[in-house]
Amino acid sequence: MLSRRYQRICQTLDRRQPDLTVLMEDVHKPHNISAIIRTCDAVGVMAVHAMNQVADGDVLDTYSQVAQGSEKWVDLNRHPDVTVAIDQLHQQNFKIYAAHLSDRAVDYRTIDYTQPTAILMGAERWGVSDTAAELVDGHIIIPMLGMVQSLNVSVAAAVILFEAQRQRLQAGFYDQPRLDPEFYRQKVFEWGYPELVAHYRDRQLPYPPLDSEGQIIST
Ligand code: SAM
Repeated sequence: MLSRRYQRICQTLDRRQPDLTVLMEDVHKPHNISAIIRTCDAVGVMAVHAMNQVADGDVLDTYSQVAQGSEKWVDLNRHPDVTVAIDQLHQQNFKIYAAHLSDRAVDYRTIDYTQPTAILMGAERWGVSDTAAELVDGHIIIPMLGMVQSLNVSVAAAVILFEAQRQRLQAGFYDQPRLDPEFYRQKVFEWGYPELVAHYRDRQLPYPPLDSEGQIIST
């Protein structure tokens, strides 16, 4: 890999936020999934979560074709249903806030996004399910002062995620790498040498070490 690309990869990984994520509940329009993932990349989200039960066919299978490249940089974790996803995130100590237009929703700016946080985004037509709304830690709303009741789901995700980015910038969360060092090392290799990943995975071999310019050190 070129040294410039290596620097860019490291710079991006240095800013990734392992404790900020998005859970998409039945968001099924490819352009919305794509836009949310692009925003996640821009904000420094390392991985997103999704479950999808309403779509005709499996939209998440086509997600790699719609995310315009950003899917390479943001991992997608798929879940069979929203209950399992919420349970797993809770086990990892995430507070989960549903972006949900409910009576108990609070202004999205009142949340402390420097804590491990997952934002649950609801389906384009139906919004967040009753089941998910019950299981999360709180509901947040972006105040709507016009005639329409809601924003496009990807726009809502962007508004909330950039507030999280603002708070984390202020708290210095982008100043030091926050990923586990071994995970970081793996990602550098996977992003820098995608054509070699299958070779090592198929043979269950560890990735080779890289030098300070990102070149493979032959052992
Ligand atoms: N009729 C749906 C409802 O009542 O929830 C509208 C769904 S909206 C088009 C899709 C998703 O975008 C929502 O489930 C929510 O996650 C998010 N969203 C849209 N506008 C929002 C707002 N003003 N505040 C918080 N979330 C919003």
